[in-house]
Amino acid sequence: MVERNSDIARYQADYLFVDIARRKERLLQEQPDAKLISLGIGDTTEPIPDMIIHSFVEQAKQLGTTKGYRGYGAALGDPSLRKKIANILYQDRISSDDIFISDGSKCDLGRLQFLFGSHSSLAIQDPSYPAYVAASVMSGKTGAYNTDNGQYRNITYLPCRPENAFFPDLEILPETDLIYICSPNNPTGTVLTHAQLQKLVKMARERGAFIIFDSAYAGFIRDSSLPKSIYEIEGAQDVAIELGSFSKTAGFTGVRLGWTVIPKQLCFDDGTPVQNDWSKIVSTFFNGASNIAQAGGLAILSDEGITASQSLCDLYLENANILREAIESKNYTCFGGENAPYLWVDIKGEPSWKLFDKLLKKGHLVTTPGAGFGPAGEGFLRLSAFGRRVNIIEAAQRLKEIL
Ligand code: PLP
Repeated sequence: MVERNSDIARYQADYLFVDIARRKERLLQEQPDAKLISLGIGDTTEPIPDMIIHSFVEQAKQLGTTKGYRGYGAALGDPSLRKKIANILYQDRISSDDIFISDGSKCDLGRLQFLFGSHSSLAIQDPSYPAYVAASVMSGKTGAYNTDNGQYRNITYLPCRPENAFFPDLEILPETDLIYICSPNNPTGTVLTHAQLQKLVKMARERGAFIIFDSAYAGFIRDSSLPKSIYEIEGAQDVAIELGSFSKTAGFTGVRLGWTVIPKQLCFDDGTPVQNDWSKIVSTFFNGASNIAQAGGLAILSDEGITASQSLCDLYLENANILREAIESKNYTCFGGENAPYLWVDIKGEPSWKLFDKLLKKGHLVTTPGAGFGPAGEGFLRLSAFGRRVNIIEAAQRLKEIL
């Protein structure tokens, strides 16, 4: 008999969205006619703009010709896409050979675990996107789970709440190798300012820590005073890795295309550039992103594509606004939604799974309980604005009736 991998067995919580799906299924068994509306999982619903679809079709046709056929591509990504990302998304602040194309940032988050040994210590924002904890636990970095506080032993949880403007208190941070930061944040929908990121970068430089900065929602930032990348902060290239994705900004959740930035000056303590090890990992566990998806990525970054993807994000932000108005009309306070497709609702001390179940049973609304994102998420509910407009309007009405 083969022994089970104890690191995977250690991951206690069911993955949050699996748990939600199970409750949803149960409701549908009890009430098969329920017209469920999802404000839960952060999956996109709007079709991909035509000109991007056209680029997929053209690339696929090429693959059907002797002249245009291509097999494996460059493992680190199509050089023209790497250049476009450097130019359009990083204003050439980052060199194109520091950008590594992937099949999405969650996949890179998994592969990133190989970069760091199981002894490395880590800190996360609390609440946070559950995959940071899950990937760290399953790669053996976190030690035992403490059922009393719902935390893993070797993770430092940094509470991010309205009281501290959703910015971790760096004073309580012990010596840490890795600190995961997500801005615009999933789940809170809030965005860190330049001043906040400067503090983080300063701390990482002083302590020799690495920041893993998740910018999956950068395309939703509308306030031009807010940073879209950690590399807008001086000195960040020495201490930060950034994850990026086309999933949410261009409807690529199913297509799968993202990137990771590892600046060449980022080095381990023995002087080895982190890039060197990342290249080994990418060429061992991945063979490069789909050429069809990468053709789509180039289309997203054309003038027409930029306008189309901005309109997509605007539509979701308007959805967030509709939901916000409904919630605020019932005297609830909510955060986020202005530069991110999520609303973080303060539910006035009610347990979040309780309100989740109430909204599911009475309103046939699927939401996400804050507690699922970490201990400091208790007392909040996350609403995703990724629904179709007609459903968002209906959901807003149901929220007004039930809250
Ligand atoms: N990072 C955050 C914060 C997310 O919310 C998500 C998806 O929900 C991802 C990364 C994963 O994105 P991708 O589709 O590129 O794997």
